[in-house]
Amino acid sequence: MTEARPMRRIALMNQKGGVGKTTTTVNLAAAIARQGRSTLVVDLDPQAHATLHLGVDPDDAHASAYDLLMDGSADPTDAALEVSEHLHLIPSETDLAGAESELASQNDRHHRLDRVLGRLEECYEFVFLDCPPSLGALTMNGLVAAREVIIPMQAHFLALQGLGKLLETVQLVRTGLNPKLRVSGVVLCMHDAQATHTREVVADMESFFESARADVESPWRFARVFRPPIRRNIKLAEGPSFGQTIFDYAPDAAGAKDYEALGAGLLREWDRLLERRGGAASEVQVTDSGRSVPMPGPVL
Ligand code: ADP
Ligand code: MG
Repeated sequence: MTEARPMRRIALMNQKGGVGKTTTTVNLAAAIARQGRSTLVVDLDPQAHATLHLGVDPDDAHASAYDLLMDGSADPTDAALEVSEHLHLIPSETDLAGAESELASQNDRHHRLDRVLGRLEECYEFVFLDCPPSLGALTMNGLVAAREVIIPMQAHFLALQGLGKLLETVQLVRTGLNPKLRVSGVVLCMHDAQATHTREVVADMESFFESARADVESPWRFARVFRPPIRRNIKLAEGPSFGQTIFDYAPDAAGAKDYEALGAGLLREWDRLLERRGGAASEVQVTDSGRSVPMPGPVL
């Protein structure tokens, strides 16, 4: 008998805009769905970029993330639209901006999405939460509903400073609201592997994560820089205006190869982790292409 797979809940988060959150949410989710895994994208950004990128008009009268956050009786299975095989979307709408202030007066304001995902537990194996570039109530809902955070960013010195602040936020959320939250790693977006500067920043990031390995309390104890980095590729920037993922818009482009490889790596590790379930899952180390790689340690 095959055991039901637990739902892996991943927030794509960075308080800075334009770093690749939405591009990574959409194309990584699509890469995983293409492997036959049931996948959900939740667009938590009032800008609705992930919704548009997946070819859905946020102004159409679908139930949206807003409806689910504001109305506890709304059925999340009605809101999830099938955008391609194995890939569903809970869309955003412009009203979502209003949710920030409307939620402010509610006691359970940060736990709404967590409850929604609880009702979808049997339906999806992967859930990707596309967070807005801020630390307001919508992002907080994402961080409370998630079990892990993936941070899309560029390998620049200034971005590295921003990473410190972001990790502090995760630590705060973990202490106050969601003890299960951990950082599984960084996805390097718009990457230029040739620049010396880039290589130095990546090395700094890796040694920073390495230094947290022994600290059992650290939320980024199992974090790493995911491979491969996502190269700068104009096709990735063009896809959204056609409402298409990179796999539909330009399947032979470098961007499709990079997201496909990133998704395949995540799945490989996840499947190994599930095989070993029963042990101390979050402590497992696996060897991936000859390297010892710490597991993301999602709480099962
Ligand atoms: P965020 O969601 O963090 O604001 P986006 O994913 O929307 O960031 O990316 C910002 C811009 O950069 C978008 O126009 C997007 O199409 C473009 N972009 C993202 N990743 C790449 C890439 N690897 N190569 C080229 N353009 C990219
Ligand atoms: Mg975005």
